[in-house]
Amino acid sequence: MKIAVFSTKSYDREYFTEHNKHFGHTISFFEAPLTPNTTNLTQGYDAVCVFVNDTLSAETIQELAKQGISIIALRCAGFNNVDLEAAEKHSMCVVRVPAYSPHAVAEHTVALILTLNRKTHKAFNRVRESNFSLEKLTGFDLFGKTVGVIGTGNIGAIFCKIMKGFGCNVLVYDIQESEEMKQQGFTYVDLPTLFATSDIISLHCPLNSSTKHIINKAAIENMKDGVMLINTSRGGLINTKDAIDALKTKKISSLGIDVYEQEEALFFQDLSESIIQDDVIARLISFPNVLITAHQGFFTHEALTQIARTTLQNIADFAQGTPSNRVVIEKRS
Ligand code: NAD
Repeated sequence: MKIAVFSTKSYDREYFTEHNKHFGHTISFFEAPLTPNTTNLTQGYDAVCVFVNDTLSAETIQELAKQGISIIALRCAGFNNVDLEAAEKHSMCVVRVPAYSPHAVAEHTVALILTLNRKTHKAFNRVRESNFSLEKLTGFDLFGKTVGVIGTGNIGAIFCKIMKGFGCNVLVYDIQESEEMKQQGFTYVDLPTLFATSDIISLHCPLNSSTKHIINKAAIENMKDGVMLINTSRGGLINTKDAIDALKTKKISSLGIDVYEQEEALFFQDLSESIIQDDVIARLISFPNVLITAHQGFFTHEALTQIARTTLQNIADFAQGTPSNRVVIEKRS
C-alpha cells in the first residue's frame, strides 16, 4: 500500500525503512504532524501512519476520507487522539500496536522512581563539578514501601512485578481485575484505599472519559502526605494545576512524568532556543523534585523494532482483507 507517515523523526525513518524490506509498501515520510491543515499531503496515498500527538479529529478524518484514505495506522498503543466515531462514520479502519515492548515503559517508570528517589541526576552534575557533598541527596529504601498501581494491563502488570522484586507491597486497581495478577499475589483494592495507603502511585490506565483527571484535587487530598506520583501513561490522567498546588504544599513529595496534558506543542521537538509559552510546564520544570521526560518510555530498540513490524503488518493484513489489531468503539448499554 502507499503509506504517508506523519510526525516522523530519524528513528522512524530508520526502523520503518529497514523493516519495510520484508513488506514492500511504498512509504513517504513527512516531518509535519497530521492535522486538518496537513491532510492535503495524503493525496494519492491509501494509508496514514500516525503517532501519539497527531490530531485525528472529526475534521481531519473527514478530509482524509475525501483523499481516499482507507486506514489509519497508529504506531503506538494509545488511541485517545482518534475520533473513533468519525472514523466509523467514514468506514475508515483504525489499527494500532497494542503491545510493542511493555517492558520498555515499565522499566522507564522505574527509572523515574529511582532517579527522583536517589537523585542520581543531581549527583551526576555535582560530581562533574567536583562537588562530592551528599547534602540534600537523602532518599528512602523502596523495600517495604507500598506502591499503588492504577491499571494492570500489559505495562502495569510488568511494573508490578518489578516493584515486587524490590520488596515493595504492591496494591493494584483496575476496572477489570486480572485472575493472573491475583494468582501472582497482587491485591486489588478500591481507588480510595489505594490513594490513602500508597507511598508511590503509578498510572498505567488509558486516557478516556472515565480516567481524565483521575488524579485531581480530591484524589490528591485523599493521598498520604509526601506521596510520590508517577505518570508514564497519558498526560490527561493528571490535573496538572492540582498537582502543582500539591507540590507547593509538599503533599506530593515528588512527581515523575513522561507525559503531559499539553505535550503536543512541546514534546519530540528541540525548543532549546525558543521561548516556552506554556507557563504550566515552565512551573513544573522549576520544581527541584519534578522529573519530566518527553514521552520516551517506549524508546528502546526492541520497541521500535516491534512498532515498525506490527504497523507494517497491520497495513498488509488490511490490504489482504483481514485487518488485525483493529481499534473498535466500545458500545455502552
Ligand atoms: P493495556 O490496555 O494493556 O492496559 C490498560 C489497563 O488499564 C487495562 O487493564 C484496563 O482494564 C485498565 N483500565 C481501563 N480503564 C481504567 C480505569 N478507569 N481505572 C483503572 N484501570 C483502567 O495498556 P498498556 O499497554 O498497559 O498501556 C497503558 C497505557 O500506557 C496506554 O494506554 C498508553 O496511554 C500508555 N503508554 C505510554 C507509553 C510511553 O511511551 N510513555 C508507551 C505505551 C503506552
